[in-house]
Amino acid sequence: MDHGLRTTDCGPVDCLFCKIIKGQIPCEKVCEDNEILAFKDINPKGPVHVLVVPKKHYATLNDIPDGELAVVSKIHRAVKKIAREQGVAETGYRTLINTHKDAGQEVFHVHWHLIGGKKLGPMA
Ligand code: AMP
Ligand code: ZN
Repeated sequence: MDHGLRTTDCGPVDCLFCKIIKGQIPCEKVCEDNEILAFKDINPKGPVHVLVVPKKHYATLNDIPDGELAVVSKIHRAVKKIAREQGVAETGYRTLINTHKDAGQEVFHVHWHLIGGKKLGPMA
């Protein structure tokens, strides 16, 4: 789907998370490797709220080709590690991905929310 963003080799020029990945906008980094970046959500919904993103730009979960799903596995490994490091692995946490408008997706660069550190309410 076209989200009206001009693209470059490094992803859409107007994508907020691509700008964070490129260091053009600051973030509170949690961990990073060559393929993924994790950083604190600017408007946390709990004591722990980390976003994990692939460095390659995919607008939504729908846009990750089947042949590139290895990055999802890598992100889930990172989520487990971050949950441990943030002290919520055993107390519990919620991992979610919002896709398109009914889910309230605001930033069209796919991202995993990791939220915890308090008792979370029901899903909806
Ligand atoms: P979503 O609604 O799933 O697209 O989530 C977007 C998330 O990005 C929200 O939880 C925002 O608080 C978060 N966010 C927006 N801008 C920034 C930023 N500059 N740094 C960190 N998180 C951000
Ligand atoms: Zn992007």
